[in-house]
Amino acid sequence: MKEHILGIDLGGTKVLAAVLDARGNIVVRARAKTRAWREDDEVYATIAGAGRRALEAAGIEASDLGAVGVAAAGPIDFDTGYIIEGANLRFKNFPLGPRLAEDFGCPAVVENDVNAGAYGEFKAGAARGARDVLVMFIGTGIGGGLILNGELYRGFSKAAGEIGHIIVKAGGPRCGCGNRGCLEAVASRTAMTRDIRKAIKRGYRGPVSRLLAKQDQLSGKDLKSAYDAGDELVTKIVHRAAKSAGLGIGSLLNIFGPEMVVLGGGVIEAFGDDFVNRVEKVGRDIAFDINSKDAKITRAELGDDAGVIGAAMLAREATNVKGKKQN
Ligand SMILES: [Zn+2]
Repeated sequence: MKEHILGIDLGGTKVLAAVLDARGNIVVRARAKTRAWREDDEVYATIAGAGRRALEAAGIEASDLGAVGVAAAGPIDFDTGYIIEGANLRFKNFPLGPRLAEDFGCPAVVENDVNAGAYGEFKAGAARGARDVLVMFIGTGIGGGLILNGELYRGFSKAAGEIGHIIVKAGGPRCGCGNRGCLEAVASRTAMTRDIRKAIKRGYRGPVSRLLAKQDQLSGKDLKSAYDAGDELVTKIVHRAAKSAGLGIGSLLNIFGPEMVVLGGGVIEAFGDDFVNRVEKVGRDIAFDINSKDAKITRAELGDDAGVIGAAMLAREATNVKGKKQN
């Protein structure tokens, strides 16, 4: 029985590879650093190498592997396994799925990382058993995915679910995507840090300015410690971010009428229920009662494993479908 699946989550600086058993539990993990600026083949070798080490650690031969599932940032063509454009790696039209399938001798699928994370929460995390689920991850950026009628929704374009680029503030700050006022440009950790820096430049002083004097970036934990220390600026900015996320969630509740909304990512992990409750309040305030009253809003459960688990689940299901078609 080829029941084990290799899941791989490709970040901008690291690769997480994990072997999952038939029940979707992670048996073993292997990590590697990616050097994103290197040539495609070198980056690919790092990815495949992390996969091989995970198999070795699990005591599994590649010939016993059922499938490989990869989560990667950027536009992906799920049907072909090509990375159309790497968001944090140089890959352009790179046949990651086909190359892994050849190397490991089994089917391989590649999915957008936040879609994979959303799918992981749906299959094995906070949204187990629900059919219509909206997942939002708030961290360095804001991403998420839609599960509609029990399936990951990719849309006609194969690129649906760009939850972070809902415009919540017309004419607002410029987003990495080129537009202004996207949720990601207002409520991500990157956006909050940018606003904090600006205020410090204008003369603001508080616990957070002492933190930023010692380091370049603010982690979710840093923001939370300044928040807990009563930093006025951080408090204002965090509350504003939660409100903006709530505006996005409220609109999405009205459009999709989901059974469950799952909130995850570094900011949610650092701030916990305080942030989630603020998002929920605004979201429910603007959603129609009928779209809100029975919808559950809850925290993600899988943390950093969501992507690798979701990618592995998608790989297993895609290969099952293929197997059925052949018979
Ligand atoms: Zn945007």
